[in-house]
Amino acid sequence: MPRDPRWDILFEPVKIGPVTAPNRFYQVPHASGMTNVLPQVRAAFREVKAEGGWGVVCTGAVSIHPSSDDSPLPAARLWDEHDVRAHALMTEAVHRHGSLAGVELWHGGAATMNRSSRIPPLSPSGVGWMSTHVGFMSNQRARAMNQDDIKAFLGWYRDAAIRAKRAGFDIVYVYAGMGYLLHEFLLPAYNRREDAYGGSVKNRTRLIREALETVKEAVGDTCGVALRISLDELRQRPGTELATEAHEVVAELGDLPDLWDVKLDSSPTDCGSSRFRPEGSHEPVIDFVKSLTSRPVVGVGRFTSPDAMVSQIRRGVLDLIGAARPSIADPFLPRKLDEGREDEIRECIGCNICISSWHDGVPVRCTQNPTIGEEWRRGWHPERYERAGSADRVLVVGAGPAGLDCALTLARRGYEVAIADKAHRAGGRILDEAELPGLNAWRRVLDYRLGALVKLPNAQLYLDSELGADEVLGFGAERVVIATGCDWVPAAYDARMETPGELFQGPGVFTPQDVFAGRPIQGPVAVFDYDNYYMGGCIAERLAAQGLDVTYVTPAGFASAWTIMNNEQPNVHMNLARLGVELITRRSVAAYMPGLLVTEDIFTRAQAELPCASLVVVGHRRPRSALYDALVARKGEWAEAGVRSVDRIGDAAAPGALVHAVYSGHLYARTLDAPAEALPYRIDNGLPAPAVAAE
Ligand code: ADP
Ligand code: SF4
Repeated sequence: MPRDPRWDILFEPVKIGPVTAPNRFYQVPHASGMTNVLPQVRAAFREVKAEGGWGVVCTGAVSIHPSSDDSPLPAARLWDEHDVRAHALMTEAVHRHGSLAGVELWHGGAATMNRSSRIPPLSPSGVGWMSTHVGFMSNQRARAMNQDDIKAFLGWYRDAAIRAKRAGFDIVYVYAGMGYLLHEFLLPAYNRREDAYGGSVKNRTRLIREALETVKEAVGDTCGVALRISLDELRQRPGTELATEAHEVVAELGDLPDLWDVKLDSSPTDCGSSRFRPEGSHEPVIDFVKSLTSRPVVGVGRFTSPDAMVSQIRRGVLDLIGAARPSIADPFLPRKLDEGREDEIRECIGCNICISSWHDGVPVRCTQNPTIGEEWRRGWHPERYERAGSADRVLVVGAGPAGLDCALTLARRGYEVAIADKAHRAGGRILDEAELPGLNAWRRVLDYRLGALVKLPNAQLYLDSELGADEVLGFGAERVVIATGCDWVPAAYDARMETPGELFQGPGVFTPQDVFAGRPIQGPVAVFDYDNYYMGGCIAERLAAQGLDVTYVTPAGFASAWTIMNNEQPNVHMNLARLGVELITRRSVAAYMPGLLVTEDIFTRAQAELPCASLVVVGHRRPRSALYDALVARKGEWAEAGVRSVDRIGDAAAPGALVHAVYSGHLYARTLDAPAEALPYRIDNGLPAPAVAAE
């Protein structure tokens, strides 16, 4: 199909200094979690985005010197010739598809703890980053930079830029954002200097100017030089000449960078989840930049709607549509728009599982796109599929995220697939969870899969179809996949072993499924959460919004403790406070009887009583395995029924988040009839790296 002419503007080329982006789709720097240790995995991951039509594809943060060392968090580096070769794999891969490759050269300043290099962190004035997040904490405080340090720093930038050029990059970044070194120079909280680098906006901007000039001189003849900058805090500081200090900084640097890449200050604000931040939420902070520079401006906003993208350009907010998450969820987003296939876009749901992968220190994962990070390792392509390895027919029982992804992927491979669900609508857990406060975008997991599945003639969906072992064995499918999901159970919590305990019994005890089913719940209600992800917080919000008196109890130190990993935790706390939910942390529930809840300090065991009409337990889940168990018990009948295999996927195998269910379904479908291998995937040993000619 031809492209809708309304999107033509998105496919115009944009000049960035001496290079030209072929279109306005710009994959901004974002973490891959792959580091230089997995250069082939990384190159394939970035390549698929170039193949999918992103005109510019950038690295994540790339350290310029060992004094910027975030280990064990997975950052890349460009310290020596070996690193040049590692990055050259990526630039060559990106260039194969006509896209530009950008590198985000980075110095972390006081925000990197240099755990591995053991160099005291550098900072403008010796002000350390006093993180309260265990993963980022350190006892090593920052050292104030003197004139020699500043000179050395500029030398590191120059040398890294020259190496970047040798590695084949087209755009080289100076990075002044997210609390890293150059951003610290901009912020008076960090920069308390009294020399030419402190005090006025001009002085605080000086080192950025010098870094830009240094990099331009080193590589500006052939590479575009971009400035990435966080403007949140600066925009809140009134200026002396212009409206705010953000205006003054941009005016001060004006046309010096070839490209402005503008963003917010911290991961939770810059990369907020859809639960708390809508598409395009950066605009109020960055909307003025284009009025103060003639250089192109790129920014993000979790854009998946082409209307929103076009609007950003036509209204003069951005010149290039920046994306990290939308390019992970669908590396082929630009190509699909270009080919008039916008209904096939796999829209990012804004869950931030990708960001949690970085906090976990592993290659990026995505709820919507199970192939991300698996391009090289497993040879998975987001738009291409191995042909079916047999003529087997497959019956998938359960049309939740696992069953749907499994059935869709099998059908795309060419298998004859039937998917049956006892419910009246397909979607499984998504149908309920997308109704929770803020989770509406999660429906996209269902919409994408169902929308694609119903178009395939070799896939049949049967709703209102509860299957037992007799029906399955009589169905006539050679392969059976059980995707029947799991159940929440109201189990107590054993704080000593950190395991689920006995079940709470009796009236007044509920699970999330009871809440979804609309069972009447009386206040005051306690939500006891040791699941630690979104469910407990969302249920508490929902009940409080219904007007109930809600107390949230958790053995963890924070509400929804795991959400520190996906940037949601500050907002979870703010929402619970806004709704008047009382928070009890570091306590377990020792006993419950109608009207009374007994909580217990997880360390001292000191008990306290709380009036409580209802207890909602959000902790343990059990696979719904009745059908699977019944089929296994009748294994002797399989051959006669023509059944070759029965497998479990998703929550029916091991309860998890949506990302696990989707991946599990995808994995089954990709590997059906594949030859057995000793290892489940290829291991990237960092070789072979092609030789790159030294200058
Ligand atoms: P997952 O996250 O693993 O995909 P879900 O809980 O979202 O799991 O989906 C499981 C689906 O399986 C639900 O839609 C449920 O109605 C369906 N289901 C469970 N047992 C049966 C059964 N015996 N026959 C048909 N459908 C079933
Ligand atoms: Fe979007 Fe979630 Fe995928 Fe990240 S993990 S790209 S937020 S769908």
